[in-house]
Amino acid sequence: MTTDDIPTSPLDDALRFDAVDLVGRTGTHRRVERTVPAPAREAGGLAMQVPEGDDIAVEIELESVVEGIYVHGTVTAELEGECSRCLDPVEQDVDVRLDELFLYPEKVRAEEREDAVLLEDDEVHLGPLVRDALAMEADERPLCREDCPGLCAQCGFRMEDDPEHHHEVIDERFAALKGLFDDDAQGEDAQDGKA
Ligand SMILES: [Zn+2]
Ligand SMILES: [Zn+2]
Repeated sequence: MTTDDIPTSPLDDALRFDAVDLVGRTGTHRRVERTVPAPAREAGGLAMQVPEGDDIAVEIELESVVEGIYVHGTVTAELEGECSRCLDPVEQDVDVRLDELFLYPEKVRAEEREDAVLLEDDEVHLGPLVRDALAMEADERPLCREDCPGLCAQCGFRMEDDPEHHHEVIDERFAALKGLFDDDAQGEDAQDGKA
């Protein structure tokens, strides 16, 4: 599969770094900082994602080495999601290390190219790397706090608002039975009274 087959996303487009000045010049390096807006939230995607339009900040060093362009640095962003117990908003700051060697295509044998990370048109395509890095850091079951009491399983009440909240299941059954007898009594009353 060539890169032409893969549809590009705005994030991928924004995270291409020209390395033409470093290509073939082993030992040279350049520092780059770029802040790009997060793409639209993926429905059904990760629990924690960067809200659309919020900053994804990339700070990297591009280093020309014999095999290609070595990229190392960080990506920082603020992820947002919902507490998996009480659905309150949860934020998560992430600061992830990036580390990848983009190989010169001509130095990679054809049969190994599919699995290799290659320099493309003297550009470093950091989008997939950044997305993977954020996904790796994202909490799968975010919590507003470790001991979040969550919601009442029966009525959805926020347990935090009243830790004593509970349902008298047995009493309710008695109440239902009592109601049954009351209905009978009322029925008789009605018959006696209104007939
Ligand atoms: Zn919570
Ligand atoms: Zn309840």
